Amino acid sequence: MTERTIYLDYAATTPVDPEVLNAMLPFLGDRFGNPSSVHRMGQEARRAVDQSRDTIAAAINADSSEIFFTSGGTEADNAALFGVLRAGVARGRTHLVTTAIEHHAVLDAAMRLARTVPFTVSLLPVDQEGFVSPEAARAAINERTALVSVMHANNEIGTIQDIRSLAEMAHAFGAYFHTDAVQTFGQMPIDVEGLGIDLMTLSAHKIYGPKGIGALYARQGVDWHPFHLGGQQEREKRAGTENVPGIVGFGKATELMRGWRDREAQRLGELRDRFVRDVTEGIPGSRLNGPTTRRLPNNANFSFTRTDGETLLLALDMAGIAASSGSACASGSIEPSHVLAALGLEESMVRSAVRFSLGRQTVADDLAITADVLKRILRGR
Ligand code: PLP
Repeated sequence: MTERTIYLDYAATTPVDPEVLNAMLPFLGDRFGNPSSVHRMGQEARRAVDQSRDTIAAAINADSSEIFFTSGGTEADNAALFGVLRAGVARGRTHLVTTAIEHHAVLDAAMRLARTVPFTVSLLPVDQEGFVSPEAARAAINERTALVSVMHANNEIGTIQDIRSLAEMAHAFGAYFHTDAVQTFGQMPIDVEGLGIDLMTLSAHKIYGPKGIGALYARQGVDWHPFHLGGQQEREKRAGTENVPGIVGFGKATELMRGWRDREAQRLGELRDRFVRDVTEGIPGSRLNGPTTRRLPNNANFSFTRTDGETLLLALDMAGIAASSGSACASGSIEPSHVLAALGLEESMVRSAVRFSLGRQTVADDLAITADVLKRILRGR
């Protein structure tokens, strides 16, 4: 019998909920119509896509016509940045403001724009807990700014930004405001109207939905150029035959989420707080990275003196515990985190960081075992 893995990497991805899978299966089987076809089978697929669109729109207080399905969070981030900046050229709006701690889907798109005439990019610094300084944001935004893009919550350290006030600053200069809400969608309510969000990125696989499907919310009237050209799908904003099973799964996962999100946030927050106390008080040389308030309830990120994250992750894996270095791990090699570097951490503390992210199957025992294993591994330093 194989032992159960203690999975503490829900910020990387979540398992597909069985109800989501059941909702998807018919669309991988008999109900295979193309939503663009006029016949009954096509129209059946079209209705399923539109129903998911309605569910997702309702969950964020948007209109259905403002939801554009994409292949995931990465594509939605790319579409927002390139789409708005390209459209901005005609109005002399060629400046992007974003932050040093964005996900690479935003950061690398921003770096590409920075190397492309006529665009310019300002990268906002963050404080030691990962919060964007309002003064720095105010100083960076100007009348040439097309877009301000600040992630709702950081995927490595869980810092939740004050989106409403950043959106207000963008609007004061006539710029649009985009937020990557991939990590918050399953953790807290999001009201795009109330927060003043013009564009927002969502991804299904962080909320017990399938991988490879996400959405860009773009408020009506926002001027953005499509990234994909071809067919007329997604109101000519995203060409390509829709991923119908994925979209159906995303809709179902969103519908289910509304039943569990707030309860889970409470439960995981309490478990996480106990785990943080256990680790920081029980392991000399450990520190919690990121904020103590305004933090995603399921996130804990630690650094440890005299070790490195990769060794620690492998030792944890040997003990049946799945955690993460927090940042993307490209072809098995772990890059030092740009997020932790932006907090001003010493290089050795950046290199020793490990992220634990909690989810549906996490129970108190898992975290007690994990804390004990960490203590055992680190005692030998
Ligand atoms: N943005 C954030 C904050 C994320 O955490 C992720 C995934 O890790 C993405 C974007 C990318 O989303 P996807 O995996 O759907 O492309």
